[in-house]
Amino acid sequence: MFTERPKFYAEYIALVVFGISSLVLVPAVLFVRLPYEKLSLVVIIVLALCVILISTVTYQSLSTYVRTYKMAQKLSKDLLIHSRELFYELYRNSPVPYILIDMEGKVESANTSAIRFFGVHEGALDGTDFFTYIEDDGTNKTNFIPAYFKQGKPISDAEVSLHKADGTIRYAILSIFLYKDVEGRQKGLLTLVDITKQKMVDKAKTEFVSLASHQLRTPISSLRWNVELFEGIPDVTLTDTQRQYLRKITDGIARMDSLVTDFLSVSKLELGTLKPHYETFELSDFLGSLHEEFRLHAEKKNVTFETNWSEQFGPITSDTRLLNMALGNLLSNAIKYTPQNGVVRGTVTLSESTITFRIEDSGIGIPGSDHEMIFSKLFRASNVESKGIDGTGLGLYIVKEALRVIGGTISFESREGVGTTFIAVIPRR
Ligand code: ADP
Repeated sequence: MFTERPKFYAEYIALVVFGISSLVLVPAVLFVRLPYEKLSLVVIIVLALCVILISTVTYQSLSTYVRTYKMAQKLSKDLLIHSRELFYELYRNSPVPYILIDMEGKVESANTSAIRFFGVHEGALDGTDFFTYIEDDGTNKTNFIPAYFKQGKPISDAEVSLHKADGTIRYAILSIFLYKDVEGRQKGLLTLVDITKQKMVDKAKTEFVSLASHQLRTPISSLRWNVELFEGIPDVTLTDTQRQYLRKITDGIARMDSLVTDFLSVSKLELGTLKPHYETFELSDFLGSLHEEFRLHAEKKNVTFETNWSEQFGPITSDTRLLNMALGNLLSNAIKYTPQNGVVRGTVTLSESTITFRIEDSGIGIPGSDHEMIFSKLFRASNVESKGIDGTGLGLYIVKEALRVIGGTISFESREGVGTTFIAVIPRR
């Protein structure tokens, strides 16, 4: 910072030398008896003039240097003021909402875009706690974002919903960068990328999928009942070929049904209509019916299905529908991707704060290069198509989202050709 002016002694020294030379040295040489007395007066005068000349030149070059230096200093100061003003103008008029907050989350300043984003008048955000604008969407962001920031960690690209002054909701991608102000105090520069429009378009698409799936449910059910009724008619003898066609129809209906169920689950999870309904139930009873449901699938495929689920675990509190959705998808995958004579094992362990479900299989495994994408919507690993195994790539996305709603997580370990273990962890309430 160029707040203090440096002193230029050289300028004054040169001036003093010049003065001494002209006022003291010449008379001294002329009137005092020096060792140079033998020199002629002309030589002495020439010498004195040389001294005066050198002093003058020194003075002039030094003062030119000083003037240039002062000019450069003034120029850089002007430049600094200019770039500060420029920076401030950019900050103020940027189309991106910027908010400066202190380490407690209190707003120190907000630019015009941020003020418009929240639909308030200038200065209305100042002094308020920014984190109180974040809506609780069930993902615990209202807690973890402030906690993370207050620990001095930057936040990048967190999707949040924020409420405006009039109560309406806007969606944004939030990032907070840490910086130090001129006094060296840690602060946060917060940026928001408004994604409300994209969210609305996504929502409209999801609502369409939801509506279409609902509408498809009735004809699918009607098809299934009619096939069942047809099969149940006494005195109807079908040829083997006719039976084969009928089985194909039944399989097709089952596939359509599971597809529509998946679409509905995805749309409900994305629209946020699948809110958790917690209840207390016996874990062994819940797992018992799950075991019963999937034992038949496994038997049909000649896959051994083992569990430790008959142990008495006692009551737990969770949402049975969402838990069933998650574990059901994991079990159905484990059986589907395990060839004949393979093994699927389900285990559960309880700690004080968590319940861990492990679904392990000796199936085809997931290639390492596909691990990163495996929970993405509509993603299928590269080794399944060639094996002709049917699927939509929605199951694991549903598992992840269903567990998220009840505060759980999902992870896995897998080796291609050896097997896969999915680990679902839910909090113990
Ligand atoms: P899909 O309907 O294709 O089974 P999922 O979302 O359930 O969709 O699974 C996504 C992909 O993950 C599957 O296509 C498959 O490649 C892989 N996968 C899931 N579970 C297993 C498993 N137990 N063993 C091997 N691969 C699996």
